[in-house]
Amino acid sequence: MTTQELIKSESEHIMQTYGRFPVALERGSGAKLYSPEGREYIDFTAGIGVNSMGYANEKWVAAVTEQAGKLAHTSNLFYTEPCIRLAETLTARTGLSRVFFCNSGAEANEGMIKLARKYSYDKYGRGRATIITLHNSFHGRTITTLKATGQAHFHDYFFPFTEGFRYAMANSMESLHAAYSRNVCAVMLEPIQGEGGVCMIDPDYVRELREFCDERDLLLMFDEVQTGIGRTGKLFAYEHFGVTPDAVSFAKGIGGGLPIGGFICPEKTAEVLGKGQHGTTFGGNPVACAGACAVLEQLDDALLAEVTEKGNYMRSVISGWNLDCVSDVRGTGLMTGVQLRSAEPGAVAAKCVENGLLMLTAGSDVLRMLPPLVITRDELDQGLEILKSTLEAI
Ligand SMILES: *Cc1c(COP(=O)(O)O)cnc(C)c1O
Repeated sequence: MTTQELIKSESEHIMQTYGRFPVALERGSGAKLYSPEGREYIDFTAGIGVNSMGYANEKWVAAVTEQAGKLAHTSNLFYTEPCIRLAETLTARTGLSRVFFCNSGAEANEGMIKLARKYSYDKYGRGRATIITLHNSFHGRTITTLKATGQAHFHDYFFPFTEGFRYAMANSMESLHAAYSRNVCAVMLEPIQGEGGVCMIDPDYVRELREFCDERDLLLMFDEVQTGIGRTGKLFAYEHFGVTPDAVSFAKGIGGGLPIGGFICPEKTAEVLGKGQHGTTFGGNPVACAGACAVLEQLDDALLAEVTEKGNYMRSVISGWNLDCVSDVRGTGLMTGVQLRSAEPGAVAAKCVENGLLMLTAGSDVLRMLPPLVITRDELDQGLEILKSTLEAI
């Protein structure tokens, strides 16, 4: 089907919940994508942080196809090797104890929320179930994770939402103290707020937050659905803060393109969820996990160092343009936000796409870039060149 045929059929047969760019994508290689008509795009989106190893990554394709040919799914009634190997790798590389696998970011966070409430129930009984999250956060689209999301417009239409969430301002201990009550059992935050606008969290604040949680036996939980799996130059972004989480979620980048999520716990919380207390049919799916193992194998110290280096390069190049329309350039590793002073980010992203560069937005005034972690310097330069001429033309 041609792009125009796809756009027409989509508009007739799929629920119109997405504002799509008028572009169809058929195949990719590295950090480049191609439309059915063969138009080439440089990709600064990685499928919203998913395609960490780029497109048609050989080791990933081999791992996934081999596993699909052997066993695509059983259920969690039986043991399969890929999810066990993946859990071994994740625990070895984080120093944490146990993993739970599910299928998406929202589900991973939902699982952590259940974990926090069960931890508190086991120790203190009923009534201590409130979770503090941050204003401007994003935690997912289920009824519970929408409520956990600290942005008012996500709290429309779908009442009644899950009870038991309070919100604090990022980087403010004062606001945290104000949100706290004796009903609180946990604090959940993103190490960098992704959807909210690539908003940075202050390391000192996180260290104080860790102490605050320890003093009150609250779980400190990181939503690393976007920041995890090498995106910021560390396997998990919490490592930048020098704290240990009581739970950390992951999803997007780990699957290399297949749907998988989960959360990892240290010893303290590793046995809170027992038999029959949490589960999902597809969790630990062998094909998704075989792909994830191939992602982690390639995400070694050398690639993590490259992510840091490429991210710093990207931000220094953009800052060096000294453009009037740009008010801030920020981020860590290959997670970059370019805050715009005057222009509307949706319109600028659309222009970038027209010019051959796939681009994300975040918050109300930010262009967000999450290129594949394996993007080459050449691909990066081509993308930056398109971004520059697009920004200069507004
Ligand atoms: C994308 C995202 C989610 C939701 O993940 P889904 O896989 O879409 O459910 C949750 N938290 C953060 C930080 C995200 O970026």
